[in-house]
Amino acid sequence: MNDFLPFTKPSIDEATIASVAEVLRSGWITGGPKVQEFERKLSEYFGGRPVRTFNSGTCTMEIALRIAGIGPGDEVITTPVSWVATANVILEVGATPVFADIDPVTRNLDLDKAEAAITPKTRAIIPVFLSGLPVDMDRLHDIARRHHLRVVEDAAQALGSAWEGRRIGSFGDFASFSFQANKNLTTAEGGCLVLNDESEARLAEKYRLQGVTRSGFDGMEVDMLGGKFNMTDISAALGLGQLPQLETLTARRRKLAQHYFTALGADFEKQTGAQLPVRDFQNSNWHMFQIVLPEGVVRAAFMEKMKARNIGCGVHYPPIHLFELYRARGFREGMFPVAESVGRRIVTLPLFPAMTGADVERVCAEAQGVLRE
Ligand SMILES: *Cc1c(COP(=O)(O)O)cnc(C)c1O
Repeated sequence: MNDFLPFTKPSIDEATIASVAEVLRSGWITGGPKVQEFERKLSEYFGGRPVRTFNSGTCTMEIALRIAGIGPGDEVITTPVSWVATANVILEVGATPVFADIDPVTRNLDLDKAEAAITPKTRAIIPVFLSGLPVDMDRLHDIARRHHLRVVEDAAQALGSAWEGRRIGSFGDFASFSFQANKNLTTAEGGCLVLNDESEARLAEKYRLQGVTRSGFDGMEVDMLGGKFNMTDISAALGLGQLPQLETLTARRRKLAQHYFTALGADFEKQTGAQLPVRDFQNSNWHMFQIVLPEGVVRAAFMEKMKARNIGCGVHYPPIHLFELYRARGFREGMFPVAESVGRRIVTLPLFPAMTGADVERVCAEAQGVLRE
C-alpha cells in the first residue's frame, strides 16, 4: 500500500528551519528585524510597492476595507465561491456583502454579473483568484475605474501568479495575500497587504497595532482604534527562507499540473462528465488542482473512496451564501446557481511541489477508477 498522499504539504527546507531556530535563540522572537527584512523583500518582489505584513490574510482584507473608509451603509461585491473569510471581512467592517455568481469555466467571479450588481451604494469589489487563477485584470480595473470602486484583490492563493507578464500584487489597488499553512508560501499563519502609498502603509501599521504612532525615542501617541495583527520574527524567518524559492516552487507546481492533464488523458471530461480546470500555464501559480465532479456523483463518497486508496482530497469551497450566517441575512438557494452547482461538486486533488510524477499518475488512476464505479 502506498503512503497517504495529502492534498497539500508545505515546502520548508533545512536552511529555513535553521533560520527559525536562530530567531528563537536570538532573544527577540516577535516582530523585529526579520519582519522588516521580509517587508523589504516583499516590496522588491511587488515592484517597489509598499507592503506590510500581518498575522493572517483575513485581517489584511479587513484593514484594506477600513483604509478605504468602507463601513455601514456601503456595499461590497464578491464571489460566493471562496473561503468564508472573503465575505466575513465585509461584515466585520459593518458593510453589506453583495454576491455575484461565478464563471463556470474559471470558477472565479463573473465580471459581467459583478458589474450588473453595482448600485449607488457599491464602494468596493473583492475578486478572488481561486487556486491562483486571476480574473481578467484589465476588465476588473476598467469596471472599478468607471464606477469609482476600490479593489481589494483576495490574492490569498495567488502569490506567484501573473497577468500578462506582470506579477499579481505588483499593480492595481490593494492586494491581499495569505501565508497560512496551505498556501504556496507559508509562515504557518500570516499575510501581507500591498498598498498604494506610504500614507496608506502608515494607516495599515496603526490598524495593525492598537492605533499606535511613534516619533523619536520615547514619543508615542494613539489617535485611532487599532487591533493586534502584527507578524512575528519567527514567521518572517519562515517567509524569508521560502521567498527566494518561490519561482522554482511555482514552476514545479505548473509542471505537475501539466502532468495531471497528460495523465488524465484528452478524453477524461467526455468519459467521466467531470470538468477540469483551465489549462493556464502562464498566469496561474497552480495553488490547487481542482476538478468539478459529474452531476450524480456524491462528493463525500468520492472523497471517502479516495481516502480508502490513501489519497487526500479537499473541498474549496462550499458556497458562502448558503451558510447559516448568510442565510440569516436573506441569502437563499437558487440565487447563484453556478456557484451552487460548482460549490457542491468541486474537489481538490493533491498538488504540492514535493509530489512526484508517479504520485500524479497514481491520483489520476485512482480518480478514474472511482469515477468508473
Ligand atoms: C487562505 C485564504 C484566506 C484567508 O487567509 P488566512 O491567512 O487564513 O486568514 C482568504 N481568502 C482565500 C481565498 C484564502 O484561500
